[in-house]
Amino acid sequence: MNPKIRLSSPHMGGTEQHYIKEAFDTNWIAPPGPNVTGFENDLRKYLNEAVHVACLSSGTAAIHLALVQLGVGLNDEVICQSMTFSASANPIKYQGATPVFVDSEKETWNMCPVHLESAIKDRIKKGTKPKAIIVVHLYGMPAKIDEIQAISKDYNIPLVEDAAEALGSTYKGRKCGTFGDFSILSFNGNKIITTSGVVPWYVTQRIKRITPSFWLPKPVDHAPHYEHSQVGYNYRMSNISAGIGRGQMEVLDKHVNLRRKMNAFYKTLFKDIEGVTVLEESNTEVFSNHWLSCILINERAPFTERSAL
Ligand SMILES: *Cc1c(COP(=O)(O)O)cnc(C)c1O
Repeated sequence: MNPKIRLSSPHMGGTEQHYIKEAFDTNWIAPPGPNVTGFENDLRKYLNEAVHVACLSSGTAAIHLALVQLGVGLNDEVICQSMTFSASANPIKYQGATPVFVDSEKETWNMCPVHLESAIKDRIKKGTKPKAIIVVHLYGMPAKIDEIQAISKDYNIPLVEDAAEALGSTYKGRKCGTFGDFSILSFNGNKIITTSGVVPWYVTQRIKRITPSFWLPKPVDHAPHYEHSQVGYNYRMSNISAGIGRGQMEVLDKHVNLRRKMNAFYKTLFKDIEGVTVLEESNTEVFSNHWLSCILINERAPFTERSAL
């Protein structure tokens, strides 16, 4: 039997243990600790110094907090890319809201701007203006961000960028994870690097203020201890996970290069096979980390040449 090839197992770079040992040596195990601050700074340096970054326990938690911050609540509607992992949509339900799914275009396999606009128009006509748009860079392939940002601006609907699979991808030279009012990254076991989740955001006109009580279970109301005026979520990343994250940042570029090599390998492999197309960058303005290489199969194409594999 052929050995199983795992989808995307974690690969430690080597320095992770140094950061973990430091956490043990200084007894900084639980949040927040110096590794969390360090990881947040590493990510800001990598993404863009102008963003703010909070390390959380998962990408799902990051999407949830973004929706909470945007005031998504009971009976609201949130637009979500239909072709994605379920975690893009689950937090909409956590808030008692309803997802409105928008189909993809063929070039990047991500949310189609034309369908997005007609969905918004339709919902507005029916009296339920969506509270947010969740766009995804599926498989690491950047979505049509210019068009989607323009629609988000025109209709004044905040954009949540699910860049869970796209750390290391860029759009017109700018890093994915910096395009949303809130953006989210995931460091789950199967992602390009591994540890937990992260939410970067800009302080834009729409996001005037972020309430730290949402992830820090401590009072921010100038109230005495243990009095809170808002419900909070204990979603912070532990200092141990953040230590792994810091070590992983040192091998991120290497991981991206390897994934891109795999994609080039598949392109060559399937080049002469009729009916098989590998998902690839459609122009030089997008750069995909190729977290996952995907193919389209035309079932109607003759498959005689498949034996060439
Ligand atoms: C993995 C993933 C998430 C969720 O991230 P977790 O850290 O696993 O919670 C969200 N969206 C997409 C597209 C993902 O691939």
